[in-house]
Amino acid sequence: MTKTFADQVRETEARHVLQTYKRAPIVLVRGQGPRVWDTEGKDYLDFTSGVGVASLGHANPGLARVVAEQASTLVHTSNLFFHPYQAELSEKLARLSGLDRAFFCNSGTEAMEACLKFARRYWYTKGERQRTGFVALTRAFHGRTFGSLSVTADPHYREPFEPLVPGVTFVDPGDTDALAAAVTDRTAAVVVEPIQGEGGIRPASQEFMKGLRALCDEHDLMLVLDEVQCGVARTGKLYAHEHYGITPDILATAKGIGGGFPLGACLATENAASGMVIGTHGSTFGGNPLAMAAGMAVLDIAATPEFLNHVQQMGERLRAALEQMIPNHDQLFDSVRGMGLMLGVKMKSDSRAFVGYLRERGLLTVAAGDNVFRVLPPLIIEESHIREFVDGLSAAAADYEVPAAA
Ligand SMILES: *Cc1c(COP(=O)(O)O)cnc(C)c1O
Repeated sequence: MTKTFADQVRETEARHVLQTYKRAPIVLVRGQGPRVWDTEGKDYLDFTSGVGVASLGHANPGLARVVAEQASTLVHTSNLFFHPYQAELSEKLARLSGLDRAFFCNSGTEAMEACLKFARRYWYTKGERQRTGFVALTRAFHGRTFGSLSVTADPHYREPFEPLVPGVTFVDPGDTDALAAAVTDRTAAVVVEPIQGEGGIRPASQEFMKGLRALCDEHDLMLVLDEVQCGVARTGKLYAHEHYGITPDILATAKGIGGGFPLGACLATENAASGMVIGTHGSTFGGNPLAMAAGMAVLDIAATPEFLNHVQQMGERLRAALEQMIPNHDQLFDSVRGMGLMLGVKMKSDSRAFVGYLRERGLLTVAAGDNVFRVLPPLIIEESHIREFVDGLSAAAADYEVPAAA
């Protein structure tokens, strides 16, 4: 048998790419809106958006044009010099988020590293050098580099790399009393995802988030929100904390903000950023003209009231359709969680196996903790895509046989 192109890709990767990913076997070559195609010409409805990244859909013409134009004008300058676009994007982000200052980087984990450094440096500058600790939540995910890994609770991610950054205490989400008890005179900041993504699409409660802000105010602590997954219009607000009527001191944003182009930022109030003076942080690639152009193109679309309204409406319809379907398949599905177009379906069996089954039937979703599969469609989906997805999901659920436990 002659090898297909996909076989060749898989074999070469197996030899030469570090084997840290358990990839699904398909090889994707093209995308358009909410759809992607593999080497065999088979198409998939992509309700992963590359884990919440391709927020404007694939091959978005506006984003493609801006990136192409910038790529043929000026790609990179380093941070040795000014160029016009960090000013432009930081001003826009400040206006939209109320957080005065931005540090630009290239990923979520880098954004979190910056958040943690901002918080520590704040206290260092204030002369309270013992304030180096962090309080974080169980089931949180903040990234894979040492700092962000240190505030990630899951032993599966942490243990092989210990010792990590010391002084991190974990409390369960929702437990305001435990949170208050965990704060000491050595705490620099509390670090929270408003909606836990990898952990299984778990929105924080209103009560918990309000208590969190009050606690941070009381102790003058930095509140760091990780909105890497739930930010940039994903929940129908530009940032998810707007649903809770609270504001952070420091915020991490990445994933959707570049629409697929690698871009992250740490945003902070003037006060929280005050310790980060010249020489305290930096990035060679961070804030390059090409990334800034992509970020501007995404925000020009995603931060408009019409677009946010669209996400809210599609989120409500998708949620309602999923909730309506669940009683027909209640041996398989338990409930729907999330906000806007950041949804998760809690299953009664292994969600990873079901995600594989859906993929074979042309629907892409992404597994998360707690036997949840995440539904993270591009934010530009229309009702027809919701119908296609829910019909496909319902048919798949009817045919699915839960694999025997290994
Ligand atoms: C994905 C994610 C990260 C890490 O982002 P990378 O770009 O993969 O480094 C951090 N925090 C949250 C909440 C995420 O979902």
